Amino acid sequence: MIRIALRATAVTIAAIAISVSICGFVLSSLGGRLDGVALWLCIACPLITAWPVSALMFSQSARLKAAHRDLARAHAQLAAAHRRLAEKARRDDMTGMLNRESFFAMLERSRRKADRGALLIIDADHFKSINDNFGHLTGDEALLLIAAAIKRGVRAGDVLGRIGGEEFCAFLPGTDEREASQIAERIRREVEAIRFQPDGEQAIPLTVSIGGALCPQGAKIPDLMRSADRRLYEAKHSGRNLVIVEAVPKAA
Ligand code: GH3
Ligand code: MG
Ligand code: MG
Repeated sequence: MIRIALRATAVTIAAIAISVSICGFVLSSLGGRLDGVALWLCIACPLITAWPVSALMFSQSARLKAAHRDLARAHAQLAAAHRRLAEKARRDDMTGMLNRESFFAMLERSRRKADRGALLIIDADHFKSINDNFGHLTGDEALLLIAAAIKRGVRAGDVLGRIGGEEFCAFLPGTDEREASQIAERIRREVEAIRFQPDGEQAIPLTVSIGGALCPQGAKIPDLMRSADRRLYEAKHSGRNLVIVEAVPKAA
């Protein structure tokens, strides 16, 4: 408020100075002098008009600036909320991993860049029997523990997705067959090592079977998935709690 009054006063003083100069110049060129009533009019007119008009202008400009600041703040908050929502929509609520759609979108992008790497499909063993014997809530707890073990088993840059109820996928960029097998084996061991005793007494064993396929250049996602799925099927039929990772034969 004081700032506005001071600025309006400065404008008024400038207006009076200009008014006095112009009138003084005109009157002297007509052979007269600026004094008496003329001088008072030259001072009073800008004083009466310039101060309120410029005070109004400055106060409106200050309000406009404040409104702009509020708008910019609201815009930044909205953009942050939008980013948070978009991120939430990409993720599976339960495990925090990418959901099926986002995982395959990521895989599609990596295929377009022809990234090398490996794809693992990780499936919880005999999970239905956990639900049947101990209830769905216990099943959920077990699933969370399995998801956490999978996260512990992968490397920092690996991408995880929950592609089905008790099925997960991992994309391991840059890995060869040996390293992919080591990572898959680490996941298997992490799950096997879980001590799950929801009622504090009976321990429920948790295991996963893992099928893996390498991603050679030009390999398409359906081929990779089919190949990893075949390995998973083999692992299940070889007794479960097992890892089978093999290179995909190059497409003709
Ligand atoms: P397999 O070793 O052959 O994979 O046997 P499985 O019992 O794990 O496989 P199946 O496909 O027969 O059953 C999967 C079960 O996983 C059935 C389904 O109710 C359960 N399931 C899927 N998603 C969830 C979930 O979010 N929470 C719970 N509690 N159970 C789930
Ligand atoms: Mg299963
Ligand atoms: Mg399954």
